[in-house]
This record gives sequence, C-alpha cells and structure tokens, in this order.
Amino acid sequence: MSTSLKPFNTFGIQSNASQIVIAQTVQQLQQAWSEAALAQQPALILGEGSNVLFLDDFAGTVIINRIIGIEVIEKDDAWYLHVGAGENWHHLVEYTLQHSMPGLENLALIPGCVGSSPIQNIGAYGVELKKVCDYVDCVDLRSGEQHRLSSPECLFGYRDSIFKHQYQDGYAITAVGLRLPKIWQPVLTYGDLTRLDPATVTPLQVFDAVCLMRMTKLPDPRVNGNAGSFFKNPVIIGEQAAELLSNFPNAPHYPQADGTTKLAAGWLIDQCELKGFKIGGAAVHRQQALVLINDAQATSQDVVKLAHHVRQRVGEKFNVWLEPEVRFIGQQGEVSAVETIA
Ligand code: NAP
Repeated sequence: MSTSLKPFNTFGIQSNASQIVIAQTVQQLQQAWSEAALAQQPALILGEGSNVLFLDDFAGTVIINRIIGIEVIEKDDAWYLHVGAGENWHHLVEYTLQHSMPGLENLALIPGCVGSSPIQNIGAYGVELKKVCDYVDCVDLRSGEQHRLSSPECLFGYRDSIFKHQYQDGYAITAVGLRLPKIWQPVLTYGDLTRLDPATVTPLQVFDAVCLMRMTKLPDPRVNGNAGSFFKNPVIIGEQAAELLSNFPNAPHYPQADGTTKLAAGWLIDQCELKGFKIGGAAVHRQQALVLINDAQATSQDVVKLAHHVRQRVGEKFNVWLEPEVRFIGQQGEVSAVETIA
C-alpha cells in the first residue's frame, strides 16, 4: 500500500508515513497501535484528516479509523443513535434528516468523520455537538479497556473537550452516542438563517440554507485543499475588549456567558487586507479569510509561513494573537501549532 498521506489530509499536502493502516474494528485499531508501540514507533490515529497539517514525513504508523455503523433506538422522548467513529459526519446529518430525525441540520457539510466531532466539539450556526451528544465511547489503547464517557464527562468547551487534554494520548474514539429530541426547536440565530420563519420552517429548509451558505463561502477541499477555519476565534477579556472596541467600534464581537468576548478571526484578518494574499502555493481564501488554502501544490512550509504572516499582521494591528485551530503533526506526532507559527 502507498504510504503517501496526500489522500488522507484535506489540505492535500504531500508527505509520507512509514505505514498506513485502515482499521475497520476496535481490535484492528488496537492491534495497529500495539504493533507500532512494540516497534517503538509513533502512531497517529486519523479520521478524514480534515483538521491537520502534516509538517513533515511521519516517522511511524498512521491508523485511519474506519469503524462504521449507525444504530437507532427510538424512545418516547428522543431518538438515540450509536454511530461508528469512522462514519462521515455529513453523511450522518443526511441520514438523520432522511429518516425524519432532525437536530443536526445546522451542522451540515462540516468536513470530517463522526469520531472527530467530539474532539473539538464541532459547532456551526449556533449549534455545537455538546447539544446533541449523549456519550462518547473510546478505547484505552495501552490496556484495551473500553470506556464510555457521558456528555458532561467529555468537558465540552468552545472547540474543546477532554479529548484534547487528559484523553488525548493513548485513547481512540470508537463511537459517539447522540440524542435527538422529538420536540424540534430550530436554531436560527446566525447569518441567512435569521431570515427563516421559526413558526413554519422545516429541518430540511435549515439544512438547505446551511449548505448554501457553506458552499458559497467556503472552498471545496476537492478543488482547493484546506482544513476549514485555520485559526480559532479569539476570546478576550473585558478590559482588552473595551480597548479594542473603542479603537475599532465596527468589530463584530459576541459577549460570552463567562464575561469574556469572542471576536471573529475572519474579520480581523480581512481588516489587514489579506484576502487572496499568497506565500508560495498557500493563500488566504478570497471569500472567507479565516480559511487558508492550498492554491497550487503548497508545501507545509508555505502554509506555516503564511500563517505566521497572518498572525503577525493581525497581532500588530489589533494586539490580538491568533492561534491555529488546525492541529500540526511533526515527525513524531502532534507539535505546538502556536509555537510553530510564532
Ligand atoms: P460568520 O457568520 O461570518 O461569523 C463570523 C464569526 O462570528 C463566526 O465564527 C461565529 O462564531 C461568530 N458569530 C456569527 N454570528 C454569531 C451569533 N449570532 N452569535 C454568536 N457568534 C456569532 O461565520 P462563518 O465563518 O461563515 O461560519 C459560520 C459558522 O460555521 C460558524 O458557526 C463557524 O464556527 C462555523 N464554521 C466552522 C468551521 C471550522 O472549521 N471550525 C469552518 C467554517 C465554518 P462561532 O464560530 O463561535 O460560531
């Protein structure tokens, strides 16, 4: 089998792994991980590679999680779904709507697979995975023990969860449990969704509107490689927010429940007039500045240099220092993305 990682990362960056294993069961996944550990080689578990940047060749085994299956149990209050980690996320959204189980429509067209969704608590158009997640199943790869974490145990935060911290190393997500309540309440707080009438709107109309917004604004990875939002929306504290807003009163800002303020990273980048800006084969997307694209056979170094430039320009103008949402993978495994572009 080829060891090129190009088909396994949506950025379309060329790099290699020593070995690539496709795992369709928990046992296969664990066996591949144990063999790598025995050979004292690093192992990396990947879903659809939609949130990674390979900086280099990976000096070990990349295990592609392809555990599939969707099981549904209907109860009086809700539908309960048990979904294999390797299922494609958007396919799941379509499946639920085709079977009249609404609740995931705002999360349509998010790239990646189901097993990746809890890691960064995926969110779009006012809905986060946290809202529908019942539990997450994972396996402790060292012991083989399987764990089920309830939604509160996942410690979901803004694009964050326990799977980025305590459960990051040595664990693999194998399935996700979802609860879709039968009483459906549309979430229409964002963008074009605000034009829909909550009294008459259907889940399919919300799905169509979300798909249209995403297809208009976001680059198709099959045309221009990318990993979605490259940077996180910065969250700043009260005093800093007050100062920034007195200098830039038009800056979109969203007060958070904990007293902090969320800024729109895309707007900050756009204000630096960086849309379309290129370094080598990497470019800032013209429609959505938050996305960096592989415009023409970009190398990872092109992307890193571009990300550094964007961070510097935004930092110098706004004193806000952007952090990548995309995870950076070096020869031995994940490395600090912030330190890499600083
Ligand atoms: P947008 O509508 O241009 O808004 C820019 C930012 O402002 C968004 O990131 C969003 O934060 C925030 N925002 C907008 N309306 C808001 C509201 N009513 N209440 C609170 N915050 C609000 O955003 P966009 O880039 O087109 O993205 C639309 C949605 O898809 C967003 O939810 C975004 O997060 C999601 N998305 C995620 C990715 C990814 O790779 N993670 C990629 C593309 C789009 P939030 O991000 O907190 O929602």
